[in-house]
Amino acid sequence: MTASPGTFEAAAPWETEWPREQLEPVPRCAVCGSSERTTLYEGLTDRIFRVAPGTWTLWRCAGCGAAFLDPRPTLGGIGLAYRCYYTHDASRARHVFSEGTGVGLLLRRLRLFAYYDDAFGYALRPAAPGAAFLTRWSAARRARADHLIRHLPAPSGRARLLDVGCGNGDFLRIGRALGFDVVGLDLDEVAAARARASGLAVHVGTLDDVALEPGTFEHVTLSHVLEHVHDPVGALRRVHALLRPGGRVWIQTPNVEAEGLRRFGPDWRGLEPPRHLTLFGPESLRRALGAVGFERIALLPPRREAAFYVAQSLMVRRGASVDRSGRAPRARIGAEARRMDRAALRCPERGESLTAVAWRPEA
Ligand SMILES: [Zn+2]
Repeated sequence: MTASPGTFEAAAPWETEWPREQLEPVPRCAVCGSSERTTLYEGLTDRIFRVAPGTWTLWRCAGCGAAFLDPRPTLGGIGLAYRCYYTHDASRARHVFSEGTGVGLLLRRLRLFAYYDDAFGYALRPAAPGAAFLTRWSAARRARADHLIRHLPAPSGRARLLDVGCGNGDFLRIGRALGFDVVGLDLDEVAAARARASGLAVHVGTLDDVALEPGTFEHVTLSHVLEHVHDPVGALRRVHALLRPGGRVWIQTPNVEAEGLRRFGPDWRGLEPPRHLTLFGPESLRRALGAVGFERIALLPPRREAAFYVAQSLMVRRGASVDRSGRAPRARIGAEARRMDRAALRCPERGESLTAVAWRPEA
């Protein structure tokens, strides 16, 4: 950007350079350790939220298929990528676990709670009696219901659940309503304070520095966390240690094998440089989980999500600003998004995001 004489026009943050001393080289894949790689995209900038400086190169690991930034922001400097990123809006999530009355919500509760009782072993109330007819739901509808509770089976007795990257605590509230003893972890102090205000136990920090007792959690969930951390395999190792033998991890992360990436390339919403340091594919996610000792690793059918990725990728392509709340403007994307969602339901390896569960072996 050039300044005309007599005026000074500051460049937008995302058009400036990332401070050199806060960059580090990544000579090996953070997932499998291979140094063999090919360039996936060069010249990437933060066109999503337009807050992070820097121009980035994304590489594809030849060993496991993961993609990663090299160079990337250092751990000490990464905060620069999150300036003005957190919005701290009060939760707008509206679902059957939200507070509220009204006939529509009650009817949805009756049906959905009956489904959870039937499919996941809960005894939620109020639930409609006799849920056999509910099994006739479409796969898409079941996936949507299953994702709302992150596929959590009913706890048998006292069971602890840790949500890593819990934000305002939206999912912690659902876990609590399902009968779990919930604990949250987040880097963002303001979000943590909001969660605490509704009586939730939330630690501020990372898996590296938080004091949690190993071997005490039945479930650990990480929704869109793993792609942000510098050492994803190390993070999974710590999750494994926090779980009780027989405990389960649930992970959701953008899929570098997504149909949307094929279609939108460097404009794909899931890339989000430089906040996304490592992007997994099905193979690399399985490898990372297996490397730290998880077993029974399974990919789950995604919920309907293509409309979000398509709408936001189109906005990035057109140079429009993306609303931080994640809502996209109405766009004529319906038919294509539905086709992508149907394909991903048949084959979770093709989803815009990957959802995986895995278990720590019984002792
Ligand atoms: Zn690799």
